[in-house]
Amino acid sequence: MHELSIVMEVVKQVKKLAEEHNVTKVQSVTVEVGEVSGVVKEYFLDAFNWMKQRNELMKDCELNYITIEAISYCEDCKKTYQTTRYAKECPYCHSTRTYLVSGKDFMIKEIKVI
Ligand SMILES: [Zn+2]
Repeated sequence: MHELSIVMEVVKQVKKLAEEHNVTKVQSVTVEVGEVSGVVKEYFLDAFNWMKQRNELMKDCELNYITIEAISYCEDCKKTYQTTRYAKECPYCHSTRTYLVSGKDFMIKEIKVI
């Protein structure tokens, strides 16, 4: 499962940070997930909850899951539009010379510790 490996990476980062700062409890983790990053929220939450129960450090940790809208840019008319609604073709001029400007990435935005 793709989501589980991402969650494991998050846990790794959290552990590393906790060690560096000598903390024993993580209060919350905020992640930003692009709409077209391929991460399924439901699976991610399941994996996260599963992992946190196995981890003393993150036992009471809250997860803030922020979805980042997928936005594309059209090189012909210089407009941006919602990728998930219109896919590869620009809804304004119907050009296909478009590219994704946001919504592809996964990142850890913030880790709060007690
Ligand atoms: Zn266009």
